Amino acid sequence: MISNKMIDLVKNSSVIRAMFEEGKILASKYGEDNVFDFSLGNPSVEPPEEIKEAITTIIQTEKANLVHGYMNNSGYEDVRGEIARSLNQRFDTKFSEKNIIMTVGAAGGLNVILKTICNPEDEVIVFAPYFGEYRNYAANYDAKLVVVSPNTKTFQPNLDEFEQKITNKTKAVIINSPNNPTGVVYSEETIQKISSILEQKEKEYNSSIFIISDEPYRELAYDGVHVPYLTKYYKNTVVGYSFSKSLSLPGERIGYLVIPDEVDDFEDMIAAANVANRILGFVNAPSLLQRVVAKCIDAKVDISSYNRNRELLYNSLVEYGYTCAKPEGAFYLFIKAFEEDDVAFANAAKKHNILIVPGSSFACPGYCRIAYCVDYEKIEKALPGFKKLAEEYNL
Ligand code: PLP
Repeated sequence: MISNKMIDLVKNSSVIRAMFEEGKILASKYGEDNVFDFSLGNPSVEPPEEIKEAITTIIQTEKANLVHGYMNNSGYEDVRGEIARSLNQRFDTKFSEKNIIMTVGAAGGLNVILKTICNPEDEVIVFAPYFGEYRNYAANYDAKLVVVSPNTKTFQPNLDEFEQKITNKTKAVIINSPNNPTGVVYSEETIQKISSILEQKEKEYNSSIFIISDEPYRELAYDGVHVPYLTKYYKNTVVGYSFSKSLSLPGERIGYLVIPDEVDDFEDMIAAANVANRILGFVNAPSLLQRVVAKCIDAKVDISSYNRNRELLYNSLVEYGYTCAKPEGAFYLFIKAFEEDDVAFANAAKKHNILIVPGSSFACPGYCRIAYCVDYEKIEKALPGFKKLAEEYNL
């Protein structure tokens, strides 16, 4: 009875579902404490105190019809104004409320912008390894995902191949930095090169090619690394932001899109994105959470615990002989599997009750993703298993 499209989608999502189920079985067999589930990107750091305070204050002091009512499909004007003000202060930009559309997380924002710009058969370029949902989001609008193969030395994008893969059908390029699954931050030089390639190709094809900057991990950057703000480098940039990780609120589904004045056909883009937000069934982003994030715009989760996890895990794994680009952001580590078959390697890890995600889920076979958004003690307890796993392959 289900649609042909859904038959394929259900089939393809079964790997992660199977892992989730397996995790539960292992936990019931060995106890929760003895299972090391590094498969999910669910924040382990508590949301900042300000969130609770803001929710209480809003509920107690603001008019209920305003807090819980419908509003402009783009979101509350004062909330969007507050977000624009904060961005301008941080990145020396010139946004106002008209450049901001509140969305149902980054996932909602990506769907809104892809619906806004994509015709069937349009091409959307992604750099492997990439967040697997991009494929499904592009398919929602019958766009074609074009994958640039990974540069496994640095995990910066492979720019020669990128340039070759741009055609007159290229509508967008999705950039995700800090990156899921590698944790790598794309350097300013990379961003400048991507921008100049795109400018040249827009001229060559007399077309508009958009950068969609998917930024749920922007605030999770370590050692003071610079995460370039892409609207400053390339005119046709749309930013998709989310508070899921920056404020540890993934279940609340709140984020926004930035569509700068400079993008081609700005007025039409905004009007279309506004309608897309409505007719995709979101109608508008959650009303209470819009008001909450506006009040907490300068609040931050304490990323020092992620950083501590990163140091422990990275240093230990390298000592045991694993190969991995040191992550500069997000809460993921992308290790090279000790055998070509990453699924077999993830299964070997499972024998030590360690759950990790095969890189083929991110179009990068031969690697595995470890999500270190877990308690520090969990990592300490998992390390002997990682060591034994390495020994099994190296002896
Ligand atoms: N983009 C990337 C790269 C992600 O890793 C995620 C979630 O993990 C999303 C988008 C979706 O984020 P959200 O939960 O805010 O919709």
